[in-house]
Amino acid sequence: MARNVTILGSGAAGLTAAIYAARADLQPLVVEGAQPGGQLTITTEVENYPGFPEGIQGPELMDLFKKQAARFGTEFVVGTVEKVDLTRRPFTITVNGTTHESQTLIVATGASAKLLGIPSEQALMGHGVSACAVCDAFFFKNQDVLVVGGGDTAIEEATFLTKFAKSVAIVHRRDALRASKAMQHRAEQNPKIRFVWDSVIDEIYDVQAKKVTGVRLKNVKTGKTSDLKCDGVFIGIGHAPNTKAFVDRLELNPVGYIVTKPPSTATSVPGVFACGDVQDHIYRQAVTAAGSGCQAALDAERFLAGHG
Ligand code: NDP
Repeated sequence: MARNVTILGSGAAGLTAAIYAARADLQPLVVEGAQPGGQLTITTEVENYPGFPEGIQGPELMDLFKKQAARFGTEFVVGTVEKVDLTRRPFTITVNGTTHESQTLIVATGASAKLLGIPSEQALMGHGVSACAVCDAFFFKNQDVLVVGGGDTAIEEATFLTKFAKSVAIVHRRDALRASKAMQHRAEQNPKIRFVWDSVIDEIYDVQAKKVTGVRLKNVKTGKTSDLKCDGVFIGIGHAPNTKAFVDRLELNPVGYIVTKPPSTATSVPGVFACGDVQDHIYRQAVTAAGSGCQAALDAERFLAGHG
């Protein structure tokens, strides 16, 4: 028998959709995805989620979301979607070689950290190169690290890294930050942080030694290259939506985010809804993701009511 609702992703959006769908007695299935709990599981203190005046740790918040979804009968499957067929209903979704049928689908697969795309970055990922300071900062106690990027992510990572590292250099391709003024101010005041402006990393050393020993920087204004010693490189240049499984199946915008039809979460395929960061590159907040997850569940419920 086909399910009523299958939700892909278990971040703030997916789990909120699950809470609403489960309370509507739709017995949803959640496919947890590559990062169960989503991006909040790799943050530390969440200070802006309403209802927690003292703040709450990201992983703890997602644990509470999951418990609340489970309480009303949500089922969970660990794994990532391998294949979807959206050409007819019920839709089919393949996870770990098992095919599930579902009358509606809520896509909440979120977004993942972008990388520079240079071969040495790939080769040294997990060996001194990281895209998550919260996960890996601990390994860089009293060491010198670099953070790439000029947005809130980069500044947040750099600030967090100063708790462990001896020094943090922020390498940015322009001479002005994109980050919010409050974050900028905090970084400028931090004696461990310095800025390397107008520069990109075009090589990370030392692939042969399987550890980071430094980088080659290129000044984008002068074209000059120089080497800078460091023990770790953190990539903080933003995020890309997890929509590989939906290319040519759902309408995506030019940078790959799922297009929804405001004021709803409807996608280009009737019965498929999208919520959270996979369709929102503007707000990207836990609370907005949760809000759109609620909308997606209500939209799916209405769709099911209208389609028997
Ligand atoms: P942004 O898109 O805001 O910033 C990305 C940064 O990386 C930019 O400075 C960009 O440079 C640089 N960059 C992008 N691609 C490359 C590349 N290939 N090589 C070198 N540099 C590159 O992404 P963020 O993830 O920082 O932030 C996204 C959203 O999430 C924002 O709305 C932000 O406010 C929010 N956010 C909020 C946080 C908080 O409030 N605690 C924490 C993290 C994010 P350039 O400036 O030249 O484009």
